[in-house]
Amino acid sequence: MKIAFIGLGNMGGPMAMNLLKAGHTLSAFDLSADACKKFGAEGLSIAKSAAETVADAEVVISMLPASAHVEGLFLGGAGKSGLLESIKPGTLVIDSSTIAAATSRKVAEAAQAKGIAMIDAPVSGGTGGAIAGTLTFMVGGETKDLERARPVLEKMGANIFHAGAAGAGQTAKICNNMLLGILMIGTSEALALGVANGLDPKVLSEIMRRSSGGNWALEKYNPMPGVMETSPASKNYAGGFGTDLMLKDLGLAQENATAVRAATPLGGLARSLYAAHSLAGHGALDFSSVLKLVQKAS
Ligand code: NAD
Repeated sequence: MKIAFIGLGNMGGPMAMNLLKAGHTLSAFDLSADACKKFGAEGLSIAKSAAETVADAEVVISMLPASAHVEGLFLGGAGKSGLLESIKPGTLVIDSSTIAAATSRKVAEAAQAKGIAMIDAPVSGGTGGAIAGTLTFMVGGETKDLERARPVLEKMGANIFHAGAAGAGQTAKICNNMLLGILMIGTSEALALGVANGLDPKVLSEIMRRSSGGNWALEKYNPMPGVMETSPASKNYAGGFGTDLMLKDLGLAQENATAVRAATPLGGLARSLYAAHSLAGHGALDFSSVLKLVQKAS
C-alpha cells in the first residue's frame, strides 16, 4: 500500500519504520529537519513537504503533538491552504495524534465534504509500544473505514478497538489517561504514607497489589524507585510517559468535561497536581515522578 506518513517524532518515527519493515511504500515528512535526517538514514523516503507525501497516497497517517497542529495541517489557516486540498478523494486519513475530540470531528467533517474518509486512532502503549509494534489503537469513525485501516494498524499495534463515531477514539483515550493520572497519584500517596510509617515499599506494594487496592501502577509501573527494576522510577524517571504529556491529556479531559457538563472532580484535581509538578521543573520526567509531590524530602 502507498502510505504518506506525517510527523516523525518519538511515536511517529518508529510507527513509520514498522510500516516500512512490513513492506509498505512510504513517503514521509516532518517539519523538523533532524527528524527527517534521522529516519531518512534508517531508510524512509523523505518528501520535501506534506503536500508532496500525499501526491499518490492511498492512506495518509498523521502523528502530531496537539489539536492546533492537526487542524493547521489539514485545514490550513492564516492564508495557507490545508492538506485536504491536496489529498485525492477516496483516500483514507488516519490521525493517531492525541487531540480534542471536537477538533477530530471538525477535521473529519471537512474531509468527508471532500470525499476523503477519516478516522481518529489515538494510541496507548508509549514509545516502547511504538517501537515494538504493540500499540493499542482506539478508533473513532465508520466501521468500513476502520476495516480499510485495519491491515495498516495491525502492523503498528496489537489491539484495535472501535470506540464509536468520529471523535470517539479521542474520548476513549482521555477517559483512560484521566483514570491513569488519578491512579498514579493515589498509588503514590498510599506508598508515601506507608514509607512515612516505616514500611518497606516493596512489601507494601506487594500487599496492595494482591489486595483490593491493586491496580496497573502497582502491577507494571511502580512510582517508588527501587521497587520495580523496569519502571521509570528506578531510572531517575527517565523515558516513559512525560509529566507534560499527562498534563496535556488531563487538560483535554477537562475541556471535554466542560463541553458535555460532566463532573470530573478528581480529574480536575489531578490536572492541577501535575501542573504544579511540571512548574516545579519536572515536566520532562516520567509522570510517575508525581510521587515527589507527596514524598518526604530525603
Ligand atoms: P513528538 O513531539 O516527539 O513528535 C511530533 C512530531 O510532529 C515532531 O517531530 C514535529 O516536528 C512534528 N510536526 C508538528 N507539526 C507538524 C506538521 N505540521 N507537519 C509535519 N510534522 C509536524 O511527539 P510524540 O511523542 O511522537 O507524540 C505524538 C502524539 O502521540 C501526541 O499527540 C502525543 O500526545 C501522543 N502520544 C504520545 C505518547 C508518548 O509516550 N510519547 C504516547 C501515546 C500518545
